[in-house]
Amino acid sequence: MLSAPRYRFFDSVKSRLTLLSGAIIAFTTLAAFLLLYGYLAHALQSNVDQGLFAEFREFQSIYQGGGLDALRREVALEESAKGKSQVFIRAFDGKGGEVLTSDLSYWNPTATTPPDLAREALPVFAGFEDTGSGRHGRSIYGQLAPDLWVLMGVDTEHNEIVLATYRQRCLEVFAVSLLAALFAAWWIARRAMQGVQALTAVAEDITRGEMTRRITNTGHGREIDRLGQVFNTMLARIAALIQEAKGLNDSIAHELRSPLTRIRGVAEMAITNGATLEQHRETVAEIVEACDGLLAMVHSMLAISEMESGVARLDAEPVDCAALVADSCELFEPAAEDRGIKMNVEIAGPAEVFGDRGRLQQAVANLLDNALKYTSSGGGINIRVTHQGDEVLIVVEDTGVGISKQDLPHIFERFYRADRSRSKPGNGLGLGLVQGIVKMHDGRVEARSVLGRGTVFNVHLPAMDSQNIAKGQ
Ligand code: ADP
Repeated sequence: MLSAPRYRFFDSVKSRLTLLSGAIIAFTTLAAFLLLYGYLAHALQSNVDQGLFAEFREFQSIYQGGGLDALRREVALEESAKGKSQVFIRAFDGKGGEVLTSDLSYWNPTATTPPDLAREALPVFAGFEDTGSGRHGRSIYGQLAPDLWVLMGVDTEHNEIVLATYRQRCLEVFAVSLLAALFAAWWIARRAMQGVQALTAVAEDITRGEMTRRITNTGHGREIDRLGQVFNTMLARIAALIQEAKGLNDSIAHELRSPLTRIRGVAEMAITNGATLEQHRETVAEIVEACDGLLAMVHSMLAISEMESGVARLDAEPVDCAALVADSCELFEPAAEDRGIKMNVEIAGPAEVFGDRGRLQQAVANLLDNALKYTSSGGGINIRVTHQGDEVLIVVEDTGVGISKQDLPHIFERFYRADRSRSKPGNGLGLGLVQGIVKMHDGRVEARSVLGRGTVFNVHLPAMDSQNIAKGQ
């Protein structure tokens, strides 16, 4: 059973998603607030600067119309209208001497001192913080007339209050939205993870041994349901593989039992019966024969496994199947003759494939061996090799016992033998080997049969073309 993993906050996808979403939302909210704050501060300052500039222009026209006296009257008027603490105005002649000033008693000297600038014709704006009172203000300094410079300042405390209030509100809204964002992110992450948790629960049940348990639609979204389907398919595949491996194990054990029992029995007889040297020789020969059978079976099993797992290598070269089949038939001819079976070989010219000569020979030999084995005396075997379009077709047809409809779909499975074939020698691996070899050559093998009438095996192999030749070079 799986032991529960030690819980660490940051290991959880839910915690990570929550924190990440929270951080993203916090960052974007903060950035938006800062941007708006910047716009607001800029707009307020521009507004003040525009007012100062309009005032400056007004002073200019008053001075041009009525000279310094008119300007003095205007300054007094301005002072009484707006308040001494809200505005100050100073004027200087060309040498820097003061020619006019409002009441500066409410202002700190640092705020009311003209900037140490070259005497600019164009007005310059400056912000200041009154060091004594801490008040904020904004000033304009510029040339009013050829020999007259003016410094004018206004209190901007009201704007500062607006900005401070804005900052305060932003902070409050930010704190609340951060909490809300963290909660929303946690809720979303929790919902998203519920599907995964459902899958985990099923997987844990399966791990505990409930092998038949499957994931049904979780209702947690298409992606999770798809994961569940893939999971189910994987489980079904694993179950099939386990079943197959189990079946294979049983078959191997079953196939080993008879020869081993035979070997043991023969050896035991030799020990207990105090036999002659000649009898001992016969016993050993029988044991060797049984061992050969076992070895052949092991070799075939290994060869099939190698081919199925893709480890087997093809020693590919151009192979003329016509010649290869003709040679194999020649080898089987004497055995066929002995058993009174007529072999008929039809070859319609060369039929080249790019393949492994040894393995192809083995496949053809297995088919011929079966045809002979399952055909009775007086029967016949027809072998044809043709080159049709882009494939080579090898046909092995016999008039033997045939294969029943029930057995036919299974004959390529390892260790499968039809009941009526059990009296014949064999281990049920021959056709598995044939199929493995043909598949390795990108071909296919098919069987047709009528019980009691005979069987046809068709082997289709890709014919050698320019592409195959290129592959082999
Ligand atoms: P075996 O060693 O039993 O021949 P194979 O894998 O070659 O194993 O064949 C599997 C089974 O297919 C055989 O046991 C037999 O029942 C059936 N079979 C194969 N070839 C033929 C054939 N030419 N005629 C009738 N039955 C065949």
